Amino acid sequence: MTTHETELGLTDSEAAQRLLADGPNQLTSRPEMPAWRRFLAQFQDPLVYLLLVALGISLLAWVLDDEEGWPIDALVIAAVVLLNAVLGWVEQSKARQAVAELARLSAATSSVVRSSKVQRIPSAELVCGDLLLLAEGDAVGADACLIQADALRVQEASLTGESVPSSKDASAQPTSSALGDRVNEVFMGTSVAQGSAQARVTATGMATQMGQIAGLLEATPEEPTRLEKEIARMGRQLGLAVVILATVVVGTILWLSDARSASEVLAVLLLGVALAVAAVPEGLPAILSVVLALGVRRMAGHQAIVKKLSSVETLGAATVICTDKTGTLTRAEMTVVQCITASGGVRITGVGYAPEGQIQADGDAASPALNPAAPTKHSPLMAELHQLLLCGALAGNARLHQDADGSWGIDGDPTDAAFLVAFEKLQQASIPASPANSLNQFTRTAYLPFTSERKLVSTVQAANSDPGNADGSLVIMTKGAPDRLLAACSGLRVGDAVEPMTDSHRAQILADIERLSSAALRTLAVAYRPLQAGEIANSTEQAAALEDQLIFIGIAGMQDPPRVEVVQAIAEAQAAGIRIIMITGDHPRTAESIGKDIGIASGTGLALTGAELDAMDDATLQQAVIQTSLYARVSPANKLRIVAALQAGGQVVAMTGDGVNDAPALKAADIGIAMGITGTEVAKQAAKVILVDDNFATLLHAVREGRSIFDNIRKFLRYLLSSNMGEVLMVFLGVVAASVIGLSGPDSAQVAVGAVVILPLLATQILWINLITDTWPALALGVDPATDDVMARPPKPVAARVMDKPMWWGIFEIGLVIAVLSLLAVDYHLPGGLIEGTGDIATARTAGFTTLVFAHLFQAFNARSDTRSAFAQLLSNHWLLAAVLLSLLLQIAAVHVPVMNLALNTVPLGWEQWMVCLGLGSGVLWYSEARKLGRRVGAGRQMAKKGTIHV
Ligand code: ADP
Ligand code: MG
Repeated sequence: MTTHETELGLTDSEAAQRLLADGPNQLTSRPEMPAWRRFLAQFQDPLVYLLLVALGISLLAWVLDDEEGWPIDALVIAAVVLLNAVLGWVEQSKARQAVAELARLSAATSSVVRSSKVQRIPSAELVCGDLLLLAEGDAVGADACLIQADALRVQEASLTGESVPSSKDASAQPTSSALGDRVNEVFMGTSVAQGSAQARVTATGMATQMGQIAGLLEATPEEPTRLEKEIARMGRQLGLAVVILATVVVGTILWLSDARSASEVLAVLLLGVALAVAAVPEGLPAILSVVLALGVRRMAGHQAIVKKLSSVETLGAATVICTDKTGTLTRAEMTVVQCITASGGVRITGVGYAPEGQIQADGDAASPALNPAAPTKHSPLMAELHQLLLCGALAGNARLHQDADGSWGIDGDPTDAAFLVAFEKLQQASIPASPANSLNQFTRTAYLPFTSERKLVSTVQAANSDPGNADGSLVIMTKGAPDRLLAACSGLRVGDAVEPMTDSHRAQILADIERLSSAALRTLAVAYRPLQAGEIANSTEQAAALEDQLIFIGIAGMQDPPRVEVVQAIAEAQAAGIRIIMITGDHPRTAESIGKDIGIASGTGLALTGAELDAMDDATLQQAVIQTSLYARVSPANKLRIVAALQAGGQVVAMTGDGVNDAPALKAADIGIAMGITGTEVAKQAAKVILVDDNFATLLHAVREGRSIFDNIRKFLRYLLSSNMGEVLMVFLGVVAASVIGLSGPDSAQVAVGAVVILPLLATQILWINLITDTWPALALGVDPATDDVMARPPKPVAARVMDKPMWWGIFEIGLVIAVLSLLAVDYHLPGGLIEGTGDIATARTAGFTTLVFAHLFQAFNARSDTRSAFAQLLSNHWLLAAVLLSLLLQIAAVHVPVMNLALNTVPLGWEQWMVCLGLGSGVLWYSEARKLGRRVGAGRQMAKKGTIHV
């Protein structure tokens, strides 16, 4: 916002009417895929093809079998295919909803004046005639005609291809109708690189220049992230393994049996297809997207908006977090507490933005004290102080206001506002200022906004009623980083006079800067210069020329206390093996002393400055970043190099940023994080995560969430895959070792395969488990609460996969245990074999089936950790308890409801038989507990040796 007179905007009701009439300010993209198309898309899946093949084969078998009764298998498979599609569709819709919600949260916004108030609204609600306020870093939300512009430069590459920002001028006439020449207009899809402006919206939505070419623009697909690539890779591996497995099993059966007739061979083939289906976790992709979407929604609840689902995982893998200082680590509530000028120093008391405080003499000021006595109202010190705070307050763009409840607030940059507050305090302390000395005696004619490269802010001011200023001569007032400003000064203000700046003055001032900075104060200096006739400034290039030969007034030290929660968050990050790097535009001494206060350790305790970075080549820098965690006086270009150097060293880098010029570094980092409050639209667009409250502690929360989501993905993979492995091995071993477990005799199942071999588990039963009883616990594992230790271990290595070798082995091992237990249940009920029983084959198979389900449900609890006992925090996941209960009820229905008996070839079991199944099924729990105990003991030994934690 500018201090220029604000033109009138629309009223709220006018705007609402126009929005209704013209429609939202959006580029209508391709119409969304209708729900029924999304439903059909569920069938476009190799797995579904596999099931359809199974369906075909079973129908064929039924035909060859003289069409006896209903084709129950075919019907069950058809039902399963349909159910799978419905579940997938519902889950995907849920995930889409969550994503849409987030898109709304991170949507672009614009500042407008409506009903005489400045409001920040979603850009989609802009209407023609709106008065648009543009500031550095804003995304231009619609086409608009400039009313007034201050040093405005707009990045128009998206429209014109021009990579250098173009200067805009409200009063100039366009030289041609080409977009690049229309200097008094701004366009949707561009962004403000510099300066500020007011503009009247002339076109919205598809009527904009952007809208006219939108049809030509192809949305560039985003490259898949690591997680997506990995899941895809795993899918391929699994597919291959499944085909091999099924071939082996089918081959073995055909070889062991004497199936020769067409229908017998078909039946064995059907088994092979069903086995393949059994080995693949059908629900996996849907469960994955739901789990990610839920995680992202949870993060949004904690003030961190993740724009792309799979960034969650990268966040959890971050090894380095490069963070801003001001606002992120500190509160960004600036208060000027010390001032030093040529004649001495003062302390200023008072907290917050209320202009209430005392001006006190400061004995330790090192400046040549021309008047060492306590400041009196007419001393040179007071004259200098007055000039310091007056110019400091004018060289900015903030406003101070008192709210109805009496509290004081600010609009604009807190650094600018701090000077306003200090000036007000001085006004109240000294004699009522003479008219020429108050802020409103000046009119601003130019504003040269802050850039991270210059680290200066200037305004050009005309004194309104200065009798000595009849020709309306102008003064430039500049404030900014003291070391920078000092270099541009040739004079020194002493009392009411100006002296040439000598080397000893310089040395003295530099010592003062160091002293204030070392006290963790943010230091700024203020200078001014009367302009020569004809000197004007409207752009930053011209500013560089004006911001020279200045008269130095003094320095101000501002307090910017660290956020309370930051110290703990940094300690937590370090315990989690994440290095915190502070990158600031501030003075190196300030960076060091704040770094020390909040526990950021740097090798030498010293900060590297941007100038030092510039002098290093890439190799030296790569060495330096290993040690150094504090960077001061950096430019956005420095940030980019720091990211590159860290990445070259194998780090996964999270980087925060807010300004326009931070966008390249945000894009280059593995995870770019934009600030929600101070962040510009441009930074937000470049980032993957937006921190709503700018708070470092929130960032850490997001990392924790990212890690626990990654853990949860591993949990349900471990669960789902070991269940699938169990089924495959049960069928395979059951057929191979049929005689050992007494699997023989007349088969009542309507499956023709019974004529060749007797299956311990039927294809329809496998599908029942995979799609019905396994789904709920897997989903519940996906939202498992974080285990205590997620932040007590180092980040997983960059190359670590979701599924590593030990995990595959674990899955095989558990699968084997599950298979053996279920086969024992079969054996228990059959005469002969290892255990003598009295049941028939149908009872034995139902018992095996039920035992398998029980074992899976126990495995859901095992899968929560590789090392921690399943009994630790047994009840902490309510969803898991509910899911297991639901699956159990479904299994009871599968065994006791007559229609299910028909579909799944089950028979009702007795009370005692249920208990046998439960007992045998629980075997997997005891087995896993013993394994974990062994691992914990082993890990304990390892840890003692290597000092690392095994997870
Ligand atoms: P940080 O990394 O702490 O956010 P900035 O890049 O915002 O640092 O600021 C770097 C330096 O630029 C500050 O130390 C200060 O000297 C100067 N500076 C910051 N804001 C302003 C401002 N509004 N006006 C003048 N100078 C400023
Ligand atoms: Mg900053």
